[in-house]
Amino acid sequence: MSLLYESALFLFKNRLYRDLKSSLKISHEDRQEILKLQNNKFVRLIDHARINVPYYSQILKNLRDIDDLAGIPFLTKKIIKEKADDLKTKNLKEKDFRKNSTSGSTGETMYFYSDMNNTYAEACAIRGDMFSGWNYGEKKITIWGALRDFHDKPGFKARINQKYLQKSEILSSFNMTEKDIDHYIDFINNFKPSLLIGYPTGLLLIAEHMIKYNRKITVPLTLVSAGETLYDFQREIIEKVFGHGVFNRYGCREVIQIASECEAHNGLHISADHLIAEVVNEKGEPASPGEAGEIIVTDLDNYAFPFIRYKIGDIGILKDPDYRCSCGVNLPMLERVEGRTMDVIVGTNGNRVTGTFWTLFFRHNFKGIEKFQVIQETSNQINIWFEINESYNNRDNETIINEIKKLLGDDLQIEIHVVDEISKTATGKHRWIISKVSPYA
Ligand SMILES: [Zn+2]
Repeated sequence: MSLLYESALFLFKNRLYRDLKSSLKISHEDRQEILKLQNNKFVRLIDHARINVPYYSQILKNLRDIDDLAGIPFLTKKIIKEKADDLKTKNLKEKDFRKNSTSGSTGETMYFYSDMNNTYAEACAIRGDMFSGWNYGEKKITIWGALRDFHDKPGFKARINQKYLQKSEILSSFNMTEKDIDHYIDFINNFKPSLLIGYPTGLLLIAEHMIKYNRKITVPLTLVSAGETLYDFQREIIEKVFGHGVFNRYGCREVIQIASECEAHNGLHISADHLIAEVVNEKGEPASPGEAGEIIVTDLDNYAFPFIRYKIGDIGILKDPDYRCSCGVNLPMLERVEGRTMDVIVGTNGNRVTGTFWTLFFRHNFKGIEKFQVIQETSNQINIWFEINESYNNRDNETIINEIKKLLGDDLQIEIHVVDEISKTATGKHRWIISKVSPYA
């Protein structure tokens, strides 16, 4: 960062800037130091929540520190919907709250509050993007579809910040026709960003367009995939076209930044200075390293509406706590994020499969399937939707149904529908799997 740029940042966003500096520093300190900071922040948070947040006054009564974490009941989306008022901190002013909501892509929208005084989570998100080699202050383009981000009219200071300090531009992921993608490629080549952030489905569309029309992105940039599960087949194609690695970023609207992939491309570093991430099995007990389970997060920086042991709705795998990454960052790691808990399809024989199975099954065996969506309507019925190309063969349907029955049970009812376009979610994402009977819901 240049001195001039650093000074400008200091004037405009001194708090975020300070947080970014300290988050970068702590990420390289010994693991013990990181865990010590995490515990200190946790103790401060529970002391606050016990006194000021009605929902937690009894729940956190006898808690001392992070060793007692497992004794706290999980916070679910259902509880948040029913008890939102009790989860709101009583000793803050209205200006300290920002009403926020989830996109509702998995069903009903959930309302909650963000803490206006929290800049640390954003700093962790910037730090995560910096793992890709991009530097804060360099240009970036985000192809995104979160309606809320567009509806929030930025004020003067925010506009100055976006244009001149963050040097960022946003393109819409709702408009991804061939003509739009052509414009986007021109825009990228003219704007010359060092970083391109997008949903994996969006990045894949651009990569496929570049192959089909022999178009090139002529500026060197790094790629961050965010907002959806990044599947291996998407990574493969995107990396082949762009000629370098994709960096997977995992976060959500509620707690912002959770984990980001680094240059070692061997997992994602958890923002352990901003949150506590646990992975639990179906009994709610800690999963072993390497075992898939539900991700539980405790946000250490939201004092307005504390998320303590929140069931975020994703499945992931923790890396061995003794593992040390070759990149030099000492934040603990997630091995991978498997997808949403809502994405688990359950057979009539009790077998369960996550999104990775379906992407492998369809992509590797049936060249005529461009895009798919599997929806489990009831415990014994699934509907499958396809967007197809000219290699599609109707006779494949029988093979597909037979193979799925072998895996998930003979009496499972399976219907296949071919459509021109599978509908997207309200925020422009594609959902590969939707389960209305997920065992985790
Ligand atoms: Zn690393």
